[in-house]
Amino acid sequence: MKSETCVGKATGKPLTEYDSEADAEEGATHAQQRFGRRLIPYACDTCNMWHLAPANRQTPTTKCGYCTGADGRPKDTYRNESEARRRADILRREQGADLRVYTCEYGSGWHLTRGQAQRPRRKGPK
Ligand SMILES: [Zn+2]
Ligand SMILES: [Zn+2]
Repeated sequence: MKSETCVGKATGKPLTEYDSEADAEEGATHAQQRFGRRLIPYACDTCNMWHLAPANRQTPTTKCGYCTGADGRPKDTYRNESEARRRADILRREQGADLRVYTCEYGSGWHLTRGQAQRPRRKGPK
């Protein structure tokens, strides 16, 4: 099924949509066998279906055992600065997120955090 709402950013063509993660994973397996391309299923916020994204768009992450983000969940950890920056660039393009990279203070790798420029923390009385 081709999506009527979503097009690929790189190709400009309608994305293939899947009803479920399992269907999307099956599609990804086919693509890998036929084209040798590694694709990763993801849930789309726009159409609430599943699409596939090239694996190189994703960056490998692990969860930090020490740090949690603003949502209280473990922060994603990147293996090095360039991977963290690559992810920050993707999020900036896709979400307009202003992110900066920094090293984990517990030495588990690199993290991203929201830039402080957009929402300066005010000191003093409310
Ligand atoms: Zn979509
Ligand atoms: Zn950490």
